Amino acid sequence: MQLEPEASPTWVSEKALTAAVTDSLSRIQPSFGVVAQDLFDSGAADLWGRAGKQTGAWSTYLSTTAQPLVLCNNTGIASDFRFTFHELGHAIHYSHSAKDRPYWLQHATLDINEYVAYTIQCLGLRELAREEVIRPAELSELNLNSLMNALDYIENLVALEEFTHWVYAQEAQNLTADELDRAYLEASAGDGLDWSGLEPIKKKMWHTLRFIPMPFYASEYILAWVMAMLGLERMDQDRTVGLEKFTQILSHSEWGFSKVLSVWEINFPFDQDTLERVAKRLRQEFGFTNTGTLI
Ligand SMILES: [Zn+2]
Repeated sequence: MQLEPEASPTWVSEKALTAAVTDSLSRIQPSFGVVAQDLFDSGAADLWGRAGKQTGAWSTYLSTTAQPLVLCNNTGIASDFRFTFHELGHAIHYSHSAKDRPYWLQHATLDINEYVAYTIQCLGLRELAREEVIRPAELSELNLNSLMNALDYIENLVALEEFTHWVYAQEAQNLTADELDRAYLEASAGDGLDWSGLEPIKKKMWHTLRFIPMPFYASEYILAWVMAMLGLERMDQDRTVGLEKFTQILSHSEWGFSKVLSVWEINFPFDQDTLERVAKRLRQEFGFTNTGTLI
């Protein structure tokens, strides 16, 4: 799906985006809308891209002032909603779990933090579609892009692992910068993407440090998506109970996936049946009608 040319790049203004996002979050849970409104009013959410600004999208929590911060680089297109809901999801988690807790429990583990962000991202985007702010096809596309983003990390990990094995088999004097670049290009050659003309950028990706100190992004990141899907499935069966359970999860920063699953009373043995259930759920969430293999 492509946005219509006339609708881009000013498809949505910052004012329209913040109003739609706040409304959607308030409908899901009033306290979510309050967090978003506070962030927007106080300037603690810096949403729009501009020259010289830190790239990417992220959220963090300032313990001393009990203040969540959100940064996005929105440009006025539909995917802004995805990033904004996701980062606000982190901020909502901080707001519900960090206040009045000891310092060491204020910064959430990545497992639960990403699980919460993906859940709120999905719920928020659904609300936008329900209110016809985005079209059903856009909803599917935004969800799919988000999932593919998380899956990309696995692809990169495969290349990085192969590359790492190569590094440890070399004599130290052979490990020149050029040799390292060449080896990484070779290890990542099968990633299925056309990097023509971008090799100078790609060859330096071996020192993308996040995979080394933060292996979370290589595996649990995609699991956070899966957990969000499973939780949403339960929430769809009983919205009231589902929101109660989700609120209970929200007040924790230290839980891993198994604890989250236990709140939903979900048994997840990673067998064929369970994975097929997840695939079915993903197809439903993304509006796919085919029954082919998704994952
Ligand atoms: Zn995140």
